[in-house]
Amino acid sequence: EAKRTGRGRAHEYSNELRADIETRHALFSEIGTAIDRDEFEAWMQPQVCAGTLRLAGCEVLVRWNHPTRGIVPPAIFLAAAEQAGLLRAIDMMMLSKGLDQLEDLRAAGIDLPKISVNASPATLHDPHLPERLIQEISSRHLSPQDLVVEVLESTLIESEDDMAARTIARIADAGIAVSLDDFGTGYASMSTLSQLTLSGIKLDQSLISPVPQPRAESIISALVTMSRSLGMTVVAEGIETEEQLELVAGMGCDTVQGYLIGKPMRAVDFHAWALNCHEETAGRRA
Ligand code: C2E
Ligand code: MG
Ligand code: MG
Ligand code: MG
Repeated sequence: EAKRTGRGRAHEYSNELRADIETRHALFSEIGTAIDRDEFEAWMQPQVCAGTLRLAGCEVLVRWNHPTRGIVPPAIFLAAAEQAGLLRAIDMMMLSKGLDQLEDLRAAGIDLPKISVNASPATLHDPHLPERLIQEISSRHLSPQDLVVEVLESTLIESEDDMAARTIARIADAGIAVSLDDFGTGYASMSTLSQLTLSGIKLDQSLISPVPQPRAESIISALVTMSRSLGMTVVAEGIETEEQLELVAGMGCDTVQGYLIGKPMRAVDFHAWALNCHEETAGRRA
């Protein structure tokens, strides 16, 4: 009986997997057209100060608004975009849309301090990236402090030369913050960390378990202490419960991001969320 259930599950799974491969294959061939048709949207997930819960920024996350499939999350198409050599184009589009949305939200009276964008390995290996970032900022009368570039820990390890490190240094020289994303999941050594001009780290969700775990807590607090002494800020990702919020706030994380605060949403919904958040924060403080 158990065996049959098991085999049934395996059968179901292989069908799902096949459908998934087909989906990915179909999507692969559609990415170029989708870029031309402007189907990629820049959704925004709020980040708030761990102590005050005031709006600290937002992360720009790509969503494919597919004409027949609906909203497709990045996990389904990022690898295909990378293989097609189109991930850099998507990153640049998210940068441009994100900055437009930042300007629009500010014009509408939302005090959004900055936006964070994700940089893929291909993006980080573009030698002109620093100039492109500066150009996007200055053409909008924004300032370097309005932007954070998130780089994956794995990008740094995979790059053989010190190209990525040099690009990061040039971005930092321009006054734009560079943050190490998914920290704790890769293998960045302490020496890598000390050599890079990083402004902060983002603690991966996997470090922050839904239930308190003494050993994980020790690791988080050691990472916070290390970041502090290197002059870096710490963002805790994937905060889903009040307990997690209290835990990371108590450990000295500066900023939190997660479903408890707000899910990724379109700019128009972010606008409404920010208005509501302002009232709630004011209410909590009162
Ligand atoms: P990431 O940069 O680490 O982004 C955080 C991811 O965690 C997002 O997934 C977000 O929706 C999710 N998340 C946030 N809070 C919670 C929470 O409380 N619980 C749970 N379970 N998840 C949470 P998303 O949007 O699906 O993006 C996945 C990854 O795709 C991102 O991870 C990033 O590596 C990549 N990505 C997204 N947008 C872009 C982009 O424009 N360019 C590049 N190169 N990569 C992107
Ligand atoms: Mg990120
Ligand atoms: Mg992350
Ligand atoms: Mg991630």
